[in-house]
Amino acid sequence: MDAKIRLYVEHPLGDGQSVPLDRAQAHYLFGVMRQSVGGHVLLFNGRDGEWRAEVVEAGKRGGMLACIEQTKPLQMPPDLWLCFAPIKKARTDFIVEKAAEMGAARIVPVQTEFTNSGRIQRDRLQAHAVEAAEQCGGTFVPEVADLVRFDRLLQNWDAGRQIMFCDEALAASRPSSLVAGAVGPWAIFIGPEGGFSERERAKLKALDVSVAVSLGPRILRADTAAVAAMTVWQQTYGDWS
Ligand code: SAH
Repeated sequence: MDAKIRLYVEHPLGDGQSVPLDRAQAHYLFGVMRQSVGGHVLLFNGRDGEWRAEVVEAGKRGGMLACIEQTKPLQMPPDLWLCFAPIKKARTDFIVEKAAEMGAARIVPVQTEFTNSGRIQRDRLQAHAVEAAEQCGGTFVPEVADLVRFDRLLQNWDAGRQIMFCDEALAASRPSSLVAGAVGPWAIFIGPEGGFSERERAKLKALDVSVAVSLGPRILRADTAAVAAMTVWQQTYGDWS
């Protein structure tokens, strides 16, 4: 039977490799998805590509899978970070899920002056990235970084990483676009509901590596802006073509 279930595991994957399941995974596979010995699932761990595996032991508290064959090599996304200011819980979850689907390599929650919340639940957000990778067929899971202060992030900024600064102040002006052909590491910056402060805008604009872009004549919500920016970036520099 064809494997339709995709499961993220931490364990190494390879030819004939046994993969033990923890209680939660066993509950999901055998309790929720009704799998049993002999059933097939697809596994990925973010490093070894995707593998078809067979259930060899199924229990209430655990189980064992055995890798049969590799079904996809590891497909790394482009070296794109999504730096965004966390907003309300559901919308922050949405941004993380979409970033994983759209092919961000790293997701960086940033505390800006107008950021509503000073805390994030990193583990919960990471779990959303895993779930998004499971359902979109990805073989890579972007890391969700710890919340970092805006100034601190820019202080040690790698001069080799360009910044696509999504500047709502440009919404009223004519469209600005990315320079075609600029390859290498990138980061997209999206502000919170209140936008970037004047000081933050000045700081971002002063960086040699940053290019301020408009996402059109309308002010987008931060979650919409994140998806729109990743679309534009992927279309210009990314792995879509
Ligand atoms: N309250 C702000 C809007 C913030 S929108 C205001 O009224 O000006 C949240 C973030 O989405 C912004 O900080 C920016 O990074 C991005 N954004 C939204 N619309 C945009 C646009 N038209 N062009 C560029 N960036 C945009």
